[in-house]
Amino acid sequence: MVGAGPSGVYVAEALTRQAADSGLDVSVAVLDRLPVPFGLVRYGVAPDHPSIRSIRSTLERALDAPGVTFYGDVHIGRDLTVDELRASVDAVVYAYGAASDRRLGIVGEDLPGSVAAPELVTWYTGHPDVHPDDGGVAPGHPSVPALLSSAREVVVVGAGNVALDVVRVLVRDVDELATTDMADEVLDALRARGVRDVHLLARRGPAYTAFTTKELRELGDLADLDLVLDPADLVLDESSSLVAEQDKVAARNLAVLAEWAGRPETGATHRLHLHFWTSPLAFLGSERVTGVEVTRSAVGADGSVHPVGEPWTIPAQLVIPAVGYRGLPLPGAPYDESTGRIPHAEGRVIRDGAFSPGEYVTGWIKRGPVGVIGTNKSDAAETVVSLLEDIDAGVLAPAGRADALPALLAERGLHPLGMAAWHRIDGAERARGVEHGRLRTTLAHRSELLEAAEHREA
Ligand code: NAP
Repeated sequence: MVGAGPSGVYVAEALTRQAADSGLDVSVAVLDRLPVPFGLVRYGVAPDHPSIRSIRSTLERALDAPGVTFYGDVHIGRDLTVDELRASVDAVVYAYGAASDRRLGIVGEDLPGSVAAPELVTWYTGHPDVHPDDGGVAPGHPSVPALLSSAREVVVVGAGNVALDVVRVLVRDVDELATTDMADEVLDALRARGVRDVHLLARRGPAYTAFTTKELRELGDLADLDLVLDPADLVLDESSSLVAEQDKVAARNLAVLAEWAGRPETGATHRLHLHFWTSPLAFLGSERVTGVEVTRSAVGADGSVHPVGEPWTIPAQLVIPAVGYRGLPLPGAPYDESTGRIPHAEGRVIRDGAFSPGEYVTGWIKRGPVGVIGTNKSDAAETVVSLLEDIDAGVLAPAGRADALPALLAERGLHPLGMAAWHRIDGAERARGVEHGRLRTTLAHRSELLEAAEHREA
């Protein structure tokens, strides 16, 4: 498995279980370029969603199971090539997700003060690639903590669940966020934030959002937040009415929005303005973002979104596009630039137009950045069925060389971190949390993770 996030671990779990049922003796190596496992469960799911984050225990059990070995801090494509990896195992399953952001392709997108949601998410989840004091912004750009303290008005572009996560982090009471495992540095920056007004732009109408109702409803329950939306946006046109009739989630979301539209403003510290049928045309500013030029939008007969009417400006000192993730190529592995995915059929990788025996794919790099964590389970099941069928059919002929990969890693002088190291990190994060009266605190620096991984009681 290249990747120890939910998609890779679900394959490891299903493969060991189903192989045992078929009398096969399988060794599964789960590799990750990070020192710690769990992928998006640790570095994607919002810290204030503890029940989703608790999926970690299931993943942890799967990685601790006999026959499964976690190799952390091994970067395929840098420490080992894909070819070297393929030569040392019987089958490779790409499960490395979609680490980049989808682009809007508009003027000003790269101005200082524009921070794509995937970047902000890595910052607030304490990802070790990003220094918590700068947030991983481009050199010379104001840091995420500086932007949060100076921005009064923020625009979030997109109407998906990541946009909702970002909005919550921007407006939620920091004392509530302090009950999560957010890193200390992140909490300090959020305590100093100056954000007052957050504008969420949905380029289509309220019947067409990508929100799930539970996550949408949650915003309405936040303390000290006024929700501002134009009731006229909730009057449905013919096609929106049809959607609302056929799509239960859309109907439930509309009911939530209708309840919000009837609420009076209370003078709360934070205001969330929901702008439907509103598209960004450009991020304005010369040195840094000062606002977003927007237009009313409409959907054409072919489903495309186009501008209508005169543009206007929403002032903003921080803009966060949250319009989806995008998979990146892994050097040496097949990749389809047009989709940002690895081409496949039922999880069997297609290389140069033909099935490539011994190469499989799962998760976001297989199906694109859609679905909740649980979606990876059925996705993994499909990939495992294909792999086991290939063994049955003789397409994949296991050579039985479970020692080849650890031997190669040792030969290269690599020192992967295993599950014992993870359990030491886990202990250190719990201990750090207890020091501050919290359950746990994410260690946000790579050096802290490595130090905790090495630490052994005398
Ligand atoms: P998403 O669900 O694909 O939503 C992307 C949003 O961006 C859509 O509203 C889309 O609008 C909009 N968009 C795309 N291109 C745009 C453009 N050029 N201009 C303006 N708006 C644009 O992506 P996501 O929010 O990143 O979430 C990724 C996946 O993770 C989803 O399946 C999501 O449900 C899941 N997730 C789940 C949770 C949870 O369960 N709590 C939390 C976070 C993420 P259109 O529809 O018009 O294209």
